[in-house]
Amino acid sequence: MAAQTLDIAELEPAELEAAVATLGVERFHARQMYRWVYRRGLEHFDGMTDLSLPVREQLEAALTITTPEVTAREQSSDGTQKFLLTLADGRTIESVFIPDTPAMTFCVSTQVGCAMRCGFCLTGQMGLVRNLSAGEIAGQVRVLARELALQDRRFNIVLMGMGEPLHNYDATMKALRMLAAPEGLALTPRRVTLSTIGILPALERLAHEPWLPNLAISLHATTDRLRHELIPTSRTQRLADLVAACRRFPMKHRDRITFEYVLLDDVNDTEADATRLVKLLRGLRAKVNLIPLNEAPGIPFRRPSDRRVDRFARSLASAGLTVSVRKSRGRDIRAACGQLIVEGGPRCSPGQRAAEILSD
Ligand code: SAH
Repeated sequence: MAAQTLDIAELEPAELEAAVATLGVERFHARQMYRWVYRRGLEHFDGMTDLSLPVREQLEAALTITTPEVTAREQSSDGTQKFLLTLADGRTIESVFIPDTPAMTFCVSTQVGCAMRCGFCLTGQMGLVRNLSAGEIAGQVRVLARELALQDRRFNIVLMGMGEPLHNYDATMKALRMLAAPEGLALTPRRVTLSTIGILPALERLAHEPWLPNLAISLHATTDRLRHELIPTSRTQRLADLVAACRRFPMKHRDRITFEYVLLDDVNDTEADATRLVKLLRGLRAKVNLIPLNEAPGIPFRRPSDRRVDRFARSLASAGLTVSVRKSRGRDIRAACGQLIVEGGPRCSPGQRAAEILSD
């Protein structure tokens, strides 16, 4: 029976209301259930004490609340925590908690693996295993909030874990709507950042969303030739078109688009790159977030020296760009950018475990 497989974790509030109505259960109970699931992290109906016992039993028989399971949890010396989560089909994903950026931030995955194949990213080397469902994306937030007892606190979400959010568009946007529900975690768009290589048709679609997260574009290069080399799946797109789409992107007063730029030693960190980057972003409400490469075995690039990173940052800043250098968090537990890969993948070299913190 279809009703027996109905999974609350995959439903927006209106869908849940409709689903309970077909069971003959009052619609307002849907709002109560949503609160229990999102604000209290419940996975079963027996704990929903403001529902009558017969209603709870009826719901338990007809509905499920599929929730990723915490298989491992590691804490970095800097307070970052990496969660290995197992999904209903046995696949695993990673989600990361970063405690003080200065806000608290959850870094969430949108796919198992990734199809973008960026040459410097371990997740890219895995290839795409499958998309996550909306319930699996939002489920990571439910689980982390519960495990960290943060359900009643404010936190940020960055879609910067495994996967390319715009390559799993519908599930990603549905997950955000579920998390935004007032009867759920009441997440506001300002607290969410969607990071993407900038797949153009999807970016245009995103521009029309009523619930618009902050946008971060993984730029990484200032010439088409180099960008196509670093991000092979961007080969059908030109940088000029991507930047033009960013110029058209709707933004509220004072908002800016973040441009992420992984710094690769002697590849994209020269003075000429800095000059081209300034020119490319001229007139855009932009901020540049430099990410010195997190090295890993099998990644054919090097992290530039701090001196080089500093010089690049200063060149941009002196030309009037807002620049930050991303602190590398959780490198000792392989929770840093581009290091998310499920077990069985390449491991960190011991030398890498000396996590070095760069200042913002
Ligand atoms: N698919 C999305 C989210 C990826 S992860 C995107 O491409 O934006 C978030 C950021 O980490 C991206 O900018 C990505 O390019 C960067 N990243 C990937 N591997 C990295 C590495 N080894 N070192 C530093 N940053 C890396």
